[in-house]
Amino acid sequence: MAIRIDGKAVAAIVRAAAAERAAQLRARGVEPHLAVILAGENPASAVYVRNKERACCEAGIRSTVVRLPEDVSQTVLETEIARLNGDETVHGILVQLPLPKGLDEKRALALIDPAKDVDGFHTVNTGNLWKGEPGFVPCTPHGVMELLKAYDIDPRGRRAVIVGRSDIVGKPMAALLLRADATVTVCHSKTRNLKEICREAEILVAAVGKPRMITWDMIRPGAAVIDVGINRVDGKLMGDVDFEGAEKVAGWITPVPGGVGPMTISMLLQNAVQAAERACPS
Ligand code: NAP
Repeated sequence: MAIRIDGKAVAAIVRAAAAERAAQLRARGVEPHLAVILAGENPASAVYVRNKERACCEAGIRSTVVRLPEDVSQTVLETEIARLNGDETVHGILVQLPLPKGLDEKRALALIDPAKDVDGFHTVNTGNLWKGEPGFVPCTPHGVMELLKAYDIDPRGRRAVIVGRSDIVGKPMAALLLRADATVTVCHSKTRNLKEICREAEILVAAVGKPRMITWDMIRPGAAVIDVGINRVDGKLMGDVDFEGAEKVAGWITPVPGGVGPMTISMLLQNAVQAAERACPS
């Protein structure tokens, strides 16, 4: 039976470290401050933003939510981003995705000052990540790396396979695993022989958004299986991995919920504190 990777426990450790750093900043008169732009009324986005606000509050990070109406224009959205870029009291800026229909997400993200881009989605930060330069790393794949570290799963020299190539998860995950000296393969919807490729993985990351598509027979015995997927099926949350079958074959496995999910906000807190530290070096 696989070892269950306890994302809640690791996330709590990361949060505590972020809170400690926030306290150090406050002690020297710097109030770490994250601004979140929430446009429209997407209920899931509203929940995510509320969770981020609560987590910031608990960690001693000030959070401001800029609420914009569903029919906000691109100009108003961009004006808000520019205003937050220029506000010296704001260290981190995050635009909650998805934006309402009709708004240009790429253009909006490109306007965020890379030094305040705590989601790590700006092209400058993407470039820094691939080049191994300092910058902001997208929270979910960064959280996966923390989980591997917490369980002493060293990617160096290992075969890593990522299923999914999104800008938010799959691609930055590939960059991070490569940076950690894994031999990385990225699969997607056009990949042939997915099962065979997955079976080569010593570290298998599923980031697809298809419930239970990774079955036990796609897993190499003893592999670390990291399930990023969050799917709601009949009101129940489940990942991209068929957990019951997979845990009999894998060496380590993340449950859904309670695996990768809790790490994402913790890494955001870490990035927000880092943004404040960089803006106000001691
Ligand atoms: P996404 O943008 O929809 O990307 C999905 C990826 O899966 C695409 O690259 C797609 O390939 C690939 N794919 C689709 N069907 C496939 C198939 N049959 N075989 C192989 N690859 C296939 O999704 P995402 O934003 O990366 O999110 C992925 C999952 O992670 C979702 O369930 C999401 O809710 C979850 N998520 C969780 C967190 C967290 O905090 N835990 C954070 C972000 C996302 P193509 O590129 O060829 O279309």
